[in-house]
Amino acid sequence: MRFDVITLFPELFAPFLVSGVTRRAYETGLVEVKLWNPRDFAEGSYRRVDDRPFGGGPGMVMMAEPLALCLEKIRDERAACGVANVPTVLFSPIGETLDHAGVEAWSAGSGAVLVCGRYEGLDQRFIATYIDRQISLGDFVLSGGEIAAMALLDAVARLQPGVLNDEGSHQLDSFNPALDGLLDCPHYTRPESWRGQPVPPILLSGNHAQIERWRREERLALTQRQRPELVQKARVAGHLTARDEAFLADLFENPEKDA
Ligand code: SAH
Repeated sequence: MRFDVITLFPELFAPFLVSGVTRRAYETGLVEVKLWNPRDFAEGSYRRVDDRPFGGGPGMVMMAEPLALCLEKIRDERAACGVANVPTVLFSPIGETLDHAGVEAWSAGSGAVLVCGRYEGLDQRFIATYIDRQISLGDFVLSGGEIAAMALLDAVARLQPGVLNDEGSHQLDSFNPALDGLLDCPHYTRPESWRGQPVPPILLSGNHAQIERWRREERLALTQRQRPELVQKARVAGHLTARDEAFLADLFENPEKDA
């Protein structure tokens, strides 16, 4: 899959693309990332990409023309390489919030053109002409779309087969609907006692069936406390066993057990 990223700050992506487990995905082209700077498509010696808002007010607005020329160049290049036609996405607080289902859909697709806004945002006429979807990271405001683009690329890359060192590890992560959609359990590593706090003894018992049960109950209790709607979703999807339900009922009766 190929993602073309339109950004005024391509240098922000350099360390991101060569760090951590996901670097393999970017380096091998499993998730190909091409960076484009609209400034390269701006006119004049100043290569201006922003201007003051019509109607007055604070801040600057990204001009439509450099963005349009940049996007058209990307579309021409993709067509020349025979790369699939993909949606053009703008990161914006007004978009749909990114979640696991969204990331799974992107990770099974053939990529996208990702547009990172800056300043007050983009000229609305560019958005109306070219943008297919808008995606938000949540109800807060970033100073640019680059971190949102990296969030999407990172989440997509780690779902690609072979990217995580341990093949199965993302399947046990939070929100995986193929598992049950619950939150992940707590994790512990050496030393066995850290500053007077021991590891839960069950994890040292070597009894795999009991460890699995403990992890499941930790996940159920944590999800019930933090995100009860995800427990209900798992129930409706048929992921909860009679034993799970008995555990949850007991938790409801004796909430003090949920430390
Ligand atoms: N005036 C805009 C905010 C502009 S912030 C507003 O109030 O809605 C500058 C850029 O940062 C945006 O164009 C967008 O690309 C990016 N951005 C800001 N918050 C974001 C969020 N929550 N999710 C995704 N992108 C965001």
